[in-house]
Amino acid sequence: MKMSKMLNLTMRETPAEAEIASHQLMLRAGLMRKMASGVYNFMPLGLKALKNVEEIVREEMNSADAQEFLASAVIPAELWQDSGRWYAYGSELFRFKDRNEREFCLGPTHEEVFTDIARQEIKSYKQLPLNLYQIQTKYRDERRPRFGVMRSREFIMKDAYSFDKDDAGLDKSYLKMQEAYIKIFNRCGLDVKCVEADSGAIGGSNSAEFMVKSEVGEDDVVFCTCCDYAANIEKAQSTPELAEKEELQSLANVETPNVKTIEELVEFFNTTEKKFAKTLIYNADGRIVAVMVRGDRAVNETKVSNALGGVTELNMATPEEVLEATSAQVGFAGPIGLKVTELLVDTEVANMYNFIVGANKTGYHISGVNYGRDFEGTVGDFRNIEEGEKCPKCGGAITISRGTEVGHIFKLGTKYSKAMGANFIDETGAPQPLVMGCYGIGINRTLASVIEQHHDENGIIWPLAIAPYKVAIVVAVSKNEEQMKAAEELYNELRMRKIDVILDDRDERAGVKFKDADLIGTPIRITIGKKISEGMVEFKLRNSEELEVISLDQVYNKIIEEFKKNNIEI
Ligand code: ATP
Ligand code: MG
Repeated sequence: MKMSKMLNLTMRETPAEAEIASHQLMLRAGLMRKMASGVYNFMPLGLKALKNVEEIVREEMNSADAQEFLASAVIPAELWQDSGRWYAYGSELFRFKDRNEREFCLGPTHEEVFTDIARQEIKSYKQLPLNLYQIQTKYRDERRPRFGVMRSREFIMKDAYSFDKDDAGLDKSYLKMQEAYIKIFNRCGLDVKCVEADSGAIGGSNSAEFMVKSEVGEDDVVFCTCCDYAANIEKAQSTPELAEKEELQSLANVETPNVKTIEELVEFFNTTEKKFAKTLIYNADGRIVAVMVRGDRAVNETKVSNALGGVTELNMATPEEVLEATSAQVGFAGPIGLKVTELLVDTEVANMYNFIVGANKTGYHISGVNYGRDFEGTVGDFRNIEEGEKCPKCGGAITISRGTEVGHIFKLGTKYSKAMGANFIDETGAPQPLVMGCYGIGINRTLASVIEQHHDENGIIWPLAIAPYKVAIVVAVSKNEEQMKAAEELYNELRMRKIDVILDDRDERAGVKFKDADLIGTPIRITIGKKISEGMVEFKLRNSEELEVISLDQVYNKIIEEFKKNNIEI
């Protein structure tokens, strides 16, 4: 491509709306433009990079014996009603009606569609195992679209669905996908960790996420400093810190006017946070429930949702709902005399002695409280693990980092096949539900994460495999005929050899062209300037400061060397 013919969209200023590097650079380098909140148009440069990610995904999926499909994004409501998710998915689902009042949704994910394909097309165990995938646009009406295409409302996903006759088969299919994912992210130049993830109310260690460490990530990922344990905080099991045994005291009502927060209470009672149990009131799909954790702990809403059998919308209760449940203002909730449908008590709280809770009376707390004697509930792990706590696998110290999920693999088992009646006939002639797995990769989010990991203050530093153009030829003075002629010849030669090359032939100062080349992030830059009269050009890599002067006829070999170093075939 010649820059003079291209719609160049580079910008010098950082757009105010973009908070993180990848979002800023995707706009500044002209990869995409925003159309509405969480809705982006991909521009030619962005599209080329996106297609490169897609191609890597496609190659590795094909090598793992998965077969590409393309399902429609428009899904009839009946399929989602069959699985039950029409009612459970909540307001993230884009729903609409056609002219005949028939209901549809725009697919946020395609388990139902692929289960429907399977129930119609798979008849016998002889057709198994099968893995079908697509690279397709998904729609989610996210509550908070942010960070550009990291969390958008329309995005491209590679989603795959495996069908097996039994759990052993599923284990194999799952492992194959896990291996394919590692290859995919490696080829994209992404440093990714595979971590244990929550698999919802159906439970089991059946799901893993591929996480990119990132300060701007929206997930907390728990790593062990001693062993290979890694898990999303939603999933990471905490080990209760057991309190020292004490003689049981009797309950005492204490007047605590305007003392509500844990900090205020610690000061008022002149004790530590560990002597308090907080009672948090939630609205779980319309049910009012309460969760108790120690004063210094944070509730883990995923663990809470799972304990409640799977919740679509879990929100903190409104002040009115709190008043109804506790007969008090917010800040004075406690387990004794509480009106909720379920009380979940963190194991740590159940093992504390003589602790302090809200009295369900405005301006009062109760001290000397003990679980079992004064109240009861469902005891379990309902809190977040914290930095420095024990690893659930080896007991070593854990550390917590922010991360972004780029991929997710999940053993579904027979959840969808049973709900939707997707059966096959086994070796004995009996019908059995298909055993399924599902596997997603966010293509746009992967692209943004690549930029997040590969950039500097001047712009993107594309890994060769993803770069929209691999080589940039910069003509120092476009009006100079000798320079231009040599540049055109090199450009034509590289194109003939199937190398994606961009020629900056614009009538601009060399400095402007270098700035754009750096911003766009092309990995290899060839500058054709004065020295061309001696047959020499400048060779520079985007990820290095070094500038080499080489002869024109060495250029192709140098480029090929770079491709080889990066394990890329031409
Ligand atoms: P998150 O927790 O970030 O919302 P998710 O668990 O909803 O992700 P999945 O349903 O597993 O995500 O989707 C598979 C992949 O699709 C994710 O790993 C992610 O890369 C991508 N993805 C999900 N939601 C979005 C979004 N709103 N914008 C861009 N990519 C997304
Ligand atoms: Mg989501």
